[in-house]
Amino acid sequence: MNFQPLSLHQIPQSLEGKVSLVTGSTSGIGLGIARSLAAAGSAIVLNGFGKPEDIAEVQARTIAEFGVEVRYSPADLSKAAAAADLIAMTLDTFGRLDILVNNAGIQYVAPLEVFPADKWDMILAINLSSAFHTTRAALPSMRRYNFGRIINIASAHGLVASPFKSAYVAAKHGIVGLTKVTALETAESNITCNAICPGYVYTPLVEAQIEGQAKAHNIPREQVIRDVLLAQQPSKRFASVEELGALSVFLASDAASSITGVALPVDGGWTAH
Ligand code: NAD
Repeated sequence: MNFQPLSLHQIPQSLEGKVSLVTGSTSGIGLGIARSLAAAGSAIVLNGFGKPEDIAEVQARTIAEFGVEVRYSPADLSKAAAAADLIAMTLDTFGRLDILVNNAGIQYVAPLEVFPADKWDMILAINLSSAFHTTRAALPSMRRYNFGRIINIASAHGLVASPFKSAYVAAKHGIVGLTKVTALETAESNITCNAICPGYVYTPLVEAQIEGQAKAHNIPREQVIRDVLLAQQPSKRFASVEELGALSVFLASDAASSITGVALPVDGGWTAH
């Protein structure tokens, strides 16, 4: 057997010529992933809410730093039609979509008996259904090019539960299931679909949770971070958006072409318990 291992610089992680769409990429994890994909050479479609001047600044900085095309769409992914329109806009602009990162997500925390039904519907729509709508709209183009990478940002809460997060936990378990079905239906077309399951990452979403719990229990925010959030994670630290970006670049690359249907925890050991 004449097996020559690849040297490190031969491992194919360049995404030049590829087109990526990252939903919910105006802040936090999505922004980190979008910038990492851009750094690897992919054109980018940003999506999400935010101040127009902040979004324009991110767009200009990413173009200047990495020399790739960067577009933006404010599509509201709580609406099914907007998710399909976002894919159509990407295909109209670039003619293809190679890498789809379903990242947009929100959270709401309340006991089941008083969990507002409209919050349940909204969380399921943004965190789960939007990935169904974008994925089904993106697949025909991916099949045509015989290449696709779908990365669903689930959560450690897609693998284990916590009280008071009924809609979030249900949506995240749902997206892990959707990931596996997508992988099974696309594997023969050189399309992979994987879920990343982060533990706690310090972003505006987590900051809101810290503030909420500090207020509810009348304790300092440092105590919430130490005794509530990071108490779950044996690493005792937040993961960074850069770590999630690097993992996404790897999953999008040719090096990961046999990895599909996986739900990969990036949680400092939380779900190993
Ligand atoms: P964030 O609040 O910083 O970012 C959320 C993004 O989603 C923003 O760009 C926002 O504009 C966008 N968004 C919200 N509603 C939208 C809608 N209706 N249509 C389009 N875009 C919308 O949050 P984050 O922490 O970066 O979370 C990103 C993803 O990672 C979410 O799916 C979240 O559940 C998941 N996640 C986060 C953590 C964490 O610790 N931060 C852990 C596990 C999983």
